[in-house]
Amino acid sequence: MSNDVYTLADLRQWHAQPPTWAEGEKPILAVFGDPVAHSLSPQMMNPALKAIGVAGRYVRLHILEDEFSEAVRLLPKLGFVGTNVTIPHKFNALQNVDEVDSLAQRLGAVNTVVVQEDQLLGFNSDGPGFLRSLTEAFHVDAKDLRILILGSGGGAGRAVAIQCALVKCERLVLVNRTAAKAQVVADEVRPLFQDDHLAGPMERLEAVAWEDDALAHQLDHTDLIINATSAGMKLTDPDLLSNGLIQPHHLIYDMVYKPARTKFIASAEAAGARATNGLSMLLHQGVISFETWFNRPAPIDVMREALQKAAAEAS
Ligand code: NAP
Repeated sequence: MSNDVYTLADLRQWHAQPPTWAEGEKPILAVFGDPVAHSLSPQMMNPALKAIGVAGRYVRLHILEDEFSEAVRLLPKLGFVGTNVTIPHKFNALQNVDEVDSLAQRLGAVNTVVVQEDQLLGFNSDGPGFLRSLTEAFHVDAKDLRILILGSGGGAGRAVAIQCALVKCERLVLVNRTAAKAQVVADEVRPLFQDDHLAGPMERLEAVAWEDDALAHQLDHTDLIINATSAGMKLTDPDLLSNGLIQPHHLIYDMVYKPARTKFIASAEAAGARATNGLSMLLHQGVISFETWFNRPAPIDVMREALQKAAAEAS
C-alpha cells in the first residue's frame, strides 16, 4: 500500500489487514478524486493538523466514479473525521450523503463531507472560498462588482456564477465556449435576480457569445473578469481574450494556479490591469473545510505557507 495514495481496495481491507501506521499517522481525513495524485491538499492540511495538535493524517484516495458510493460509506467505520471531494465526484457526493447543507444544495455540488457518528453530512466550501480569496486579493466585495465569467458552463464556473448571484453582484455576464451551457446557468440563476432592478442601460444578467464584438461591449461594463475555464494551464494555450479587450480598470481572477503567472495573468498585467491566480481559492476552501470538520478556527498562516511551498515545488 502506497504511503501517499490509497484506493477502494485499500479501504476494503483497512480492518481485515490493518496497515501499520506510526503513532499519530493514521489517516483521518482525505481527498477523493480521479486523478488525485496532483492534489496539493495533503501538503496544506497535514501541517494544519499538527498545528492544532490533532493526531492523524490527511491522505489522497484515488477513487473511480463508480466506486464513490461504496468508498464514502466506509469512512465512518474506518474512523475518518471527513473528506474533501474533487473532480469528478462533487455531484455524486451530493447524492451519496445523508444530509446536504443549503448552500451545497444550491450550488449542486458537495466538496466537503463531515462524518458524524454513522452519518455523512455534505457541505460546499468552493463558493465561499472563492469570495474570501477575491476579497483578499483585491479588497473588494463581489456584491459591488459587475462580473463576467469565462467558462461559466463548467463545474467551477457554474458554482462561482451561482455564488456571485447569491450575493447579488451588480451584474453577471456568463460566457462559455459551448454557449448553450452558459444559457442553462443563466436560466438557473435568473430567479435570484428577479426582484432587483439595476438602474442603467445594461441587463443585470446576460449569457453572451464568446465573440470579440459581444465581449468588447460587455467588457466596457465589467469590473471583474474570472477565468473558470481549464484553458491556460499550458503556456502554449491560445489567448483567452483578443488583444485590446482587457482594460486597465479590470480586475482579473484566473482560477488556474499552475503556472503561478498564467498566460491570462501576463496579458492582464501587460494591459495595465490587476490580476491574481486561484491559489488562494484553494487555500480558503481548505480553511473553510477544516473549520467545518473541527468547528474551530483553522491555522490559516500555517496552511498558507505550506500551500505556497507545495505550489512552488510542484511548478
Ligand atoms: P470543467 O467542469 O471540465 O469545465 C471546463 C470549462 O473550461 C468548460 O467551461 C469548458 O468549456 C472550458 N474550456 C475548456 N477548454 C477551453 C478552451 N480551450 N477555450 C475555452 N474554454 C475552454 O472543469 P472545472 O472543474 O470547472 O475546472 C475549470 C478550471 O478551474 C480548471 O483549470 C481548474 O483547475 C480550476 N479550478 C480551480 C479551483 C481553485 O481552487 N483555484 C477550484 C476549482 C477549479 P466547454 O463547456 O465549451 O467545454
